[in-house]
Amino acid sequence: MSKSIFKYCPSCGYRLITGKDVRLISCNKCAFHFYISPAPTVAILLKNINNEYLFVKRKFQPKKGYWDLPGGFLDYRETYEKALKREVREELGITISVFNYIGSATDVYDYKGISYYTIVAVYGGFIEQKIIPADDVETFLFFTEKNIPENKFAFPGLLSLVKKYILTT
Ligand SMILES: [Zn+2]
Repeated sequence: MSKSIFKYCPSCGYRLITGKDVRLISCNKCAFHFYISPAPTVAILLKNINNEYLFVKRKFQPKKGYWDLPGGFLDYRETYEKALKREVREELGITISVFNYIGSATDVYDYKGISYYTIVAVYGGFIEQKIIPADDVETFLFFTEKNIPENKFAFPGLLSLVKKYILTT
């Protein structure tokens, strides 16, 4: 668990005293109490007709230039399924309707001094359409199961789940 960067109470502005648990923002003056929860994200492992898997290269921080799966953070009041369809449409320019749940993994997403503890729901599916990559994707490539880009992969928890899934299915 990394340090808390929050110095003042968001409610009354009183200086916070960092306790043992940096996930908890607790104010000694106004009783403000906020627990920092994991952030839900979604990702998809897409396979083509040649049994190759699609990976995208991140164009922006964090982990710019690292390989990742298509996906992202859930919006407010969005389900995993809805978020998955939206991210695939936004990042790859395609529509998917059939996908199955693979599993979940935890990771840390460090951005502008804040560590977001993420929980990713990973789905699998097939891709037949032509990809039209979006602004936040630098490039994309299909990899065989023996060749997945694990040396420069953005998120170790997600990578571990993907490797396990690919090698056992
Ligand atoms: Zn306060």
